[in-house]
Amino acid sequence: MKWLEFAISSTHEASDAVVDFLTGLGAAGVQVNDPVEFKLLKEASPVDFVDESDMFASGNSTEVDIRAYFSADAEDNILVREPGPFFEQAGYTGKRIKVDLGSLIKMLCDKLADLDNYLDTGSGYQGVREVFEEDWAENWKKYYQTVHLTNRLVINPSWIKYDSAPGEIVVSLDPGSAFGTGTHESTALCAEYLDSTVKNGSKVLDLGTGSGILAIIAALLGAEVEAVDIDPRAVSVARENARANNVDIYFQSGELHDVRGSSYDLIAVNIIADVIIDIMPELAAKLAKEGELVTSGIISDKAANVIAAAESCKLTLISRKEKNDWVAMKFRPGS
Ligand code: SAH
Repeated sequence: MKWLEFAISSTHEASDAVVDFLTGLGAAGVQVNDPVEFKLLKEASPVDFVDESDMFASGNSTEVDIRAYFSADAEDNILVREPGPFFEQAGYTGKRIKVDLGSLIKMLCDKLADLDNYLDTGSGYQGVREVFEEDWAENWKKYYQTVHLTNRLVINPSWIKYDSAPGEIVVSLDPGSAFGTGTHESTALCAEYLDSTVKNGSKVLDLGTGSGILAIIAALLGAEVEAVDIDPRAVSVARENARANNVDIYFQSGELHDVRGSSYDLIAVNIIADVIIDIMPELAAKLAKEGELVTSGIISDKAANVIAAAESCKLTLISRKEKNDWVAMKFRPGS
């Protein structure tokens, strides 16, 4: 077996969608070098981060450099997930099919062209090359370093030994195929809210759990946590991450209307503004009287729409935080 590395040049806005597509398609690993995130991380935790000259050894553009790794046989046939209807396993059937290199490149280019109708995807496909397993399996790890989300919340990749300071809460997290490594602004903002809000015994719902990062943080802060994701692959990654952190979380595949519980002290939703607006009445109905709703994943242009939706459900804005055009807000019942 050999490994093929596909290089895609994208933008900060589109990189999550491109990475989702690549992991959905079956990439064994995806490495993202985002100058914007890098800068933020460096500001947040200068001592833990990689050498800048190393990071940009291959270029100095402001575009996001994405590398996706697929395994191939000797004839360059690549095993990918078979594309299916959108709502089936996030756009893929359970089946694996072999495609030749030309077909995979075409699939990549078609998908990027399709995404380009909604988002500026940047320069797109750059090329493909063969790499040796040891190279990529070890190389991409250097871009995931220890991240300090707050004074006491630390996200640490499992392969790094981290000596925690007294009072620190360390989440061991490997970037799997699900969203949420702590490096995205929307996750970091939610984590700050969790840190200041969750109390021992709080009843927390994490809607759109991804890697499980927020659910695990809440559980480590002493909460009783339920977590849900529409993508069953995310739920299995999150379960694995919860196990690695020795926390007990009730995970469920589905959407908010599949959640049986109610009267949550805190609901964290890091999805996107339009989804949050759609489900605002259901969110409001699931909050305890004194409960709090943390919304994130909102680009600043859409914040006012989210506030209006919340107010129409008798929720009041009590706090707002912003990082790099991403907004997170906290609401409470009552006007
Ligand atoms: N909570 C994590 C991941 C956020 S990414 C973090 O803060 O980093 C958003 C997640 O929401 C994705 O895993 C996606 O699959 C999930 N999602 C999107 N729409 C959803 C919906 N309507 N109901 C439940 N989950 C949803």
